[in-house]
Amino acid sequence: MATADVVVIGGGATGASTAFHLATVGVPRVVLLERHHLGAGATGKSGSLVRMHYTNEVESRLAFESLKIFRDFQAIVGGDCGFEPAGFIQIVGTGYERALAHNVDTQRRIGIDTRVITREELRRLLPGCHVDDIGAAAWEPGSGFADPNATTFAFAEAARRRGVTIRTHCEARRILVERGRVVGVETAEDRIAAPVVVVAAGAWATGLLAPLGLDYGLRPHRVQISILRWPAGFGHRHPAVIDAIHQSWFRPEGLASTLAGVELGVGHADPERFDESVDPDYVARCREKLAARLPVFADATMRGGWAGMIMMSPDGRPIIDQIPSVAGLYGMLGDSGTSFKTSPAIGRCLAEWIVEGKPRTADLAPFRSTRFAEGRPWVDEHHYGRERLTISR
Ligand SMILES: Cc1cc2nc3c(=O)[nH]c(=O)nc-3n(C[C@H](O)[C@H](O)[C@H](O)COP(=O)(O)OP(=O)(O)OC[C@H]3O[C@@H](n4cnc5c(N)ncnc54)[C@H](O)[C@@H]3O)c2cc1C
Repeated sequence: MATADVVVIGGGATGASTAFHLATVGVPRVVLLERHHLGAGATGKSGSLVRMHYTNEVESRLAFESLKIFRDFQAIVGGDCGFEPAGFIQIVGTGYERALAHNVDTQRRIGIDTRVITREELRRLLPGCHVDDIGAAAWEPGSGFADPNATTFAFAEAARRRGVTIRTHCEARRILVERGRVVGVETAEDRIAAPVVVVAAGAWATGLLAPLGLDYGLRPHRVQISILRWPAGFGHRHPAVIDAIHQSWFRPEGLASTLAGVELGVGHADPERFDESVDPDYVARCREKLAARLPVFADATMRGGWAGMIMMSPDGRPIIDQIPSVAGLYGMLGDSGTSFKTSPAIGRCLAEWIVEGKPRTADLAPFRSTRFAEGRPWVDEHHYGRERLTISR
């Protein structure tokens, strides 16, 4: 039987980052299992915004620790993650001015470069922008977006250089547990004995968790994006934007297009067989929401789109934990459509937890798996609307 110190299940951004960080802190025998190819899950389809603005401090901290890695990727990891600091704007409606100011203050205290901007500044940063309905907006000059596939490939390659074994097209079939403790993983090809397993299997995690009696109410969702060519007369490579009024987001894609996403409501789907292409009515909705902010986009030509699978947790926040009922089992579960930008720091935290006994980079207690059983699901006090969105951003 093969042996390892740690087996990581899932070759998305989380698994690749975790494997890299485990190797970096000196874990000698790490195996990463990916049932398809690297980036085959949500990561490969990600809109990949890298923004610090959240309505709670812990996720902003994770995003900020990750930004430090995105910004200096070549030196810290090696290779190119395709990070583009195009800037980021958060727009909220009337009634949420104080919440936004509070969140910006919190983020500035952490060290994030952000500030509240006026409507005039917003018009300058986003020429042609409709501002009459806006309550408040925040600006992050150093944020933007990255290439999620390049990020994952680079983490994996750097992990491989440090001795990690990466097995693609190799499915983890079962996590082996004896007397409440992880003892290994059964794959489609063999068994690997290991005292520690990290589940980073995205929308496909339930099949590994259920046999262990673990049920967190995770639900896979199909989410989409579409790409619109800039219409005649529009040539501004705009910043990335989240528009909480229209429940939409957008960022530049290539040299003359915009990649956009909008909320569509519940979109449960079977992650084993879902339509990877974009729905025609979704494209129309993206165009409509984008044009509500930048009217010139009413005439934008559709140039593509796709769908991917995310895993929603019941409170829309990830679970990042050492699963208390199974010694040696760690999980990053229920990414909730927002965990590409935090994957560098999440991987580092998991590696610290495994090697040092607790994460140093950030406090992960708010992400604990037991919060649902405790009857204390995640609630942000300074939110921009209570709806639990399944829009990925
Ligand atoms: C359309 C879209 C837009 C998004 N936009 C953003 C955004 O702007 N910003 C942001 O931060 N996030 C965004 N997200 C969310 C983000 O992409 C995900 O939260 C993140 O990529 C999750 O990464 P992961 O590695 O945890 O999971 P995944 O990328 O889903 O990786 C899981 C991997 O595990 C593999 N796997 C599953 N089961 C097994 C098994 N049994 N054995 C071996 N391998 C297995 C899968 O094949 C897959 O490759 C978006 C997602 C989508 C789909």
